Amino acid sequence: MAGDSFLAKCPSCGAKNRIPAGRVAAQGRCGRCQAKLPARSFFAEAPVEVGEARFDLVTRMSPLPTLVDFWAPWCAPCQALASVLAQLASELAGRLLVIRLNTETAPTTAARFGIQAIPTLVILRSGIEVDRITGVLPLPAIRARVERFL
Ligand SMILES: [Zn+2]
Repeated sequence: MAGDSFLAKCPSCGAKNRIPAGRVAAQGRCGRCQAKLPARSFFAEAPVEVGEARFDLVTRMSPLPTLVDFWAPWCAPCQALASVLAQLASELAGRLLVIRLNTETAPTTAARFGIQAIPTLVILRSGIEVDRITGVLPLPAIRARVERFL
């Protein structure tokens, strides 16, 4: 399931702390033991829904390659792709960040990337596009495209 937060694993007690997308740049403390959490924790076991306001912050600060799913609620192929991306995010947690951007609520960002058709997947490193996949591909094909950047 897509959430709007990342997970930071506490280096001291191992607890997983939820970090809202808007606070991912700040260094927090563990909710269980109060130890400092590592800065820039972009660990996510599921695709993270990121809105227009947080998109640049998240994609530019992420130390991990980021796969952005440009989707829309009315798009049936997008729903098929969502389950594929959920599996990919789970398999590559800690190596790849998968985020989802709703093009209906984030039209400015979609236009900036010149999104003509959805679903479109864009692979970013430090906020810069390195690859793009248009349409639905099976999981192994998407994984093969992504693995070149891990
Ligand atoms: Zn802790």
